[in-house]
Amino acid sequence: MEKVVIIGSGPAGWTAALYTARAQLAPLVLTGQQPGGLLTTTSIVENFPGFPEGVDGYELMTRMQKQAERFGAKTSFGVVESVDFSARPFNLVVDGEKVIAETVIIATGAGHKHLGVPGEHELETKGTTYCATCDGALPVFRNQPLVVVGGGDSACEEALYLTRFGSVVHLVHRRDSLRASKIMAERTLANPKIKPIWDSAVTEILDVKQDKVTAVKLKNLKTGEETSLSCAGVFIAIGHVPNTEIFKGKIITDENGFIVPQQGTMTNVPGVFVAGDCADHVYRQAITAAGAGCAAAIDAERFLAAANV
Ligand code: NAP
Repeated sequence: MEKVVIIGSGPAGWTAALYTARAQLAPLVLTGQQPGGLLTTTSIVENFPGFPEGVDGYELMTRMQKQAERFGAKTSFGVVESVDFSARPFNLVVDGEKVIAETVIIATGAGHKHLGVPGEHELETKGTTYCATCDGALPVFRNQPLVVVGGGDSACEEALYLTRFGSVVHLVHRRDSLRASKIMAERTLANPKIKPIWDSAVTEILDVKQDKVTAVKLKNLKTGEETSLSCAGVFIAIGHVPNTEIFKGKIITDENGFIVPQQGTMTNVPGVFVAGDCADHVYRQAITAAGAGCAAAIDAERFLAAANV
């Protein structure tokens, strides 16, 4: 029986692991399919305090893991298939094996949002991608026109990164100004290789018949004009959806699937806590996720002490 099981291994999960490990609760961290979470796909993280030169996302997560393990956190590269929160201790099925836990901290983060247009799904990994740092350097994108969709920090970061490889980077955004932070927006718009296409939506990704990306269809949302733009790659960076599917019907979420804590970081199930992007559609930063992980760990520790476990 585990005292604390942490589901997820992003900044929230590792910080919860660090704190519960230092409380000598020997937490078990179930990393999920993407150990380290979404941050491992970011190139340089410039806004995590303590790293004046910035830090590689993968390195930051590896350091967090090492720090938690140093104090006794146990790591399992498992994926949780189902949870039974109907009574404590809780039952989890992880890669077919049963895991029993006195408390659970959910830190499953969020995944990439999809556009939902024709061609997107069919051409995924064939020119359509959700991660420039993972795929941008592929030969197929070198010296080719590329498209980035979105207007937030992620889209700006992807566009800037892709200027290293593409001949030109078209930044397609549905409004006429960027949502990104001022510094990122200014950096993006000042880059001569990035060409913004305002007030526009990608309505289709071509060409499924050729089994590769050759162009996108665009619609100007103000004029209704439809055009097509040649490109070798489409990088979609339009935000995230919480990874909370397995908790549906068991944990209270909002209409978008974000978990809604009821008391501090505790969910509607006493003994089940939540931290990070799976519960946060407002701040969504590595540092706020880490802070929430710390809070969830303290709440879980107090819960166990009160329950005399
Ligand atoms: P975001 O801030 O939610 O931005 C999503 C963008 O995609 C918005 O511009 C939105 O348009 C657009 N969009 C959403 N749904 C769309 C759709 N169906 N079709 C077309 N466009 C759509 O997401 P994010 O950029 O991933 O950033 C998430 C959080 O992480 C933010 O807090 C951000 O600051 C942070 N972040 C920070 C860094 C960094 O500092 N290095 C890097 C990446 C992310 P509208 O503007 O019209 O809503």
